[in-house]
Amino acid sequence: MRRPIVAGNWKMHGSREENAQLLSALIAGVGACAAEVIVFPPAVYLAEVAALAQGSAVRVGGQNLCTESIGAYTGEVSGAMLVDVGASHVLVGHSERRALYGESDSVVARKFVAAQAAGLVPVLCVGETLEERESGVTEAVVSRQLDAVVSLAGTAAFLKAIVAYEPVWAIGTGRTASPNQAQAVHAFIRGYFSAKDVMLADHVRVLYGGSVKASNAAELFGMADVDGGLVGGASLKAEEFVRICVAAG
Ligand code: PEP
Repeated sequence: MRRPIVAGNWKMHGSREENAQLLSALIAGVGACAAEVIVFPPAVYLAEVAALAQGSAVRVGGQNLCTESIGAYTGEVSGAMLVDVGASHVLVGHSERRALYGESDSVVARKFVAAQAAGLVPVLCVGETLEERESGVTEAVVSRQLDAVVSLAGTAAFLKAIVAYEPVWAIGTGRTASPNQAQAVHAFIRGYFSAKDVMLADHVRVLYGGSVKASNAAELFGMADVDGGLVGGASLKAEEFVRICVAAG
């Protein structure tokens, strides 16, 4: 049985005061929840959010990390620094990083490796654009994104990683993939790993991301290969996010 996960990507939102309020409501709300709950605040707030979350069921992750571990990389944050301030996870290859900051498959793969080298659990985001879906290349795109990481990190690296299927057309658009659309790609991703290692395929958790809300979470999370969600906008509203966590388990 794979333990469900609900991850909240706060993106570039929040303030010290808002974060503290959101987190305390979240901690109070998810206490009895079976799902693993992880929040991803902006880097400047990580240390404070991690300190506030200490001793609770909520874990904290970074939204991004540098491919390199130390040195002259102005503006960057290393995996070791994320660990130092209390992060346990990090998002890698979010579609906003790929599209807005030009992160290629190979940069994403290097970030995945850097995350694991620092002791973080990478949450590898994959997914197709609307144009790619309409051209019928969703599986080819997802395979290409996974191949880049597998060829650098190896298949076994996914024993300590999480995959998030996030169709780009569903992120922040209010247009959610239907449960069947999500399940089809999740089954494809599990099949991708199954062809390499059946045990790994059974173990790896694949989250769905893209306009998850309290009103659609249970149906999405009820699909056989959907192990929880990566939630953006709805993770900024405590009550809504708690309902999503409860829907996961
Ligand atoms: C995300 O940021 O990864 C995301 C899925 O956002 P939203 O839930 O707002 O679509």
